[in-house]
Amino acid sequence: MLSRVLALWLWVSFALAAFAPVARAAPQNVCKTCAGTGLAPCRPCAKSHCTAKHEVLFCSIASRCKACGGTQLAPCKCAASPKVSLDAKRAALAAWVTKRPAEIAEFMGREVAVAESAHFVLVWDVPKVDVKGVTDLHGALHLYLDRLEDFYARFCDDVGAVEKDFISKTIGLVWSREADQEKASPKYTLQPSNTESKLMGRAPVFSLFYDKGHMHEEYELHQAIVHHASHCLLSNVFNGIWSGNIKGGWADEGLAHWYENSLFDGVRHYCYVEQDTQVDFKFGKWEAGVRQALDDGKLPSVFAFTALNTTEMTPPQKMYAWALVDYLLRGPKKSFGAFARAAKEKRSFADACQAILGRSALDVDRDWRAWIAATYSATPKAR
Ligand SMILES: [Zn+2]
Ligand SMILES: [Zn+2]
Ligand SMILES: [Zn+2]
Ligand SMILES: [Zn+2]
Repeated sequence: MLSRVLALWLWVSFALAAFAPVARAAPQNVCKTCAGTGLAPCRPCAKSHCTAKHEVLFCSIASRCKACGGTQLAPCKCAASPKVSLDAKRAALAAWVTKRPAEIAEFMGREVAVAESAHFVLVWDVPKVDVKGVTDLHGALHLYLDRLEDFYARFCDDVGAVEKDFISKTIGLVWSREADQEKASPKYTLQPSNTESKLMGRAPVFSLFYDKGHMHEEYELHQAIVHHASHCLLSNVFNGIWSGNIKGGWADEGLAHWYENSLFDGVRHYCYVEQDTQVDFKFGKWEAGVRQALDDGKLPSVFAFTALNTTEMTPPQKMYAWALVDYLLRGPKKSFGAFARAAKEKRSFADACQAILGRSALDVDRDWRAWIAATYSATPKAR
């Protein structure tokens, strides 16, 4: 008897499974507004919906809409039952707003826009950026959150990291007023600064003042943010330990500059903290500088700069660190991620060479020089 009931139940299950797609595929009076989802765009805030390429989990500007509470959705007129619970979505948004955005508003003494994506929280206070199609603060907020997510994907690919390798999201704060940077930096990055500052490690944060007197073009802001995001992500990935103060400054600063050279038209940005002593070091493309040093017999061995803290490195050493990162990312064996991990685990460069490449640091130094000779031109590229 029991087996008969079981057999009948199995048959019903299979029959339902077999016929279900056919039944679902038949487009009987599917609502054009919601395509059967039961959810339509919220009309009262239709003109100010979040404009994002990557998924936005929360947005404080969107959540100002009283009609939808930031879900930007409303039940469709067709009354199809919604596939997701709008009430639950709305409640989650309401709870989020009472946390970070409320805390920041209380500390800063006014409301500041905040949006959150899968890997970043962005606190944005720049009313306008000079980018086509971006007309207001809300648009700029999402442009930069998207740019950060784009950068995250690139970073993971280069370093060989996956989602679970990160301990927490990176928080970025971008201000249009110097006074706000001065107020926010000690609180959120534990480092007072009127220009830019960052907190590395398990819960990374960067905060910067968009100083148009220093960053003349809009892409310079993008470049500065990429530089800081590189520091933050690298400090967080694998173990939440910043290599910059445990003798792995070459990986920390070398990678931040590597992205400047790869994604923009050369190195322009230095962390302001270290800038005072670096005023006479030329910005620009570094290939020619490194090649020239090699040709002149002035290129130091890797031993000279792979056991220093970030703040101990001279500008030329940062350039050589960049060239080493370049070799480990673009050379015959893409291995920078493993080297960065070793630096974050306080292992020496020589140990890492042996463990990762099966070669002595002396051999790696030789290979690096040969690669530079074969790859870099001594003629500076047009800037
Ligand atoms: Zn509908
Ligand atoms: Zn938004
Ligand atoms: Zn709305
Ligand atoms: Zn830096």
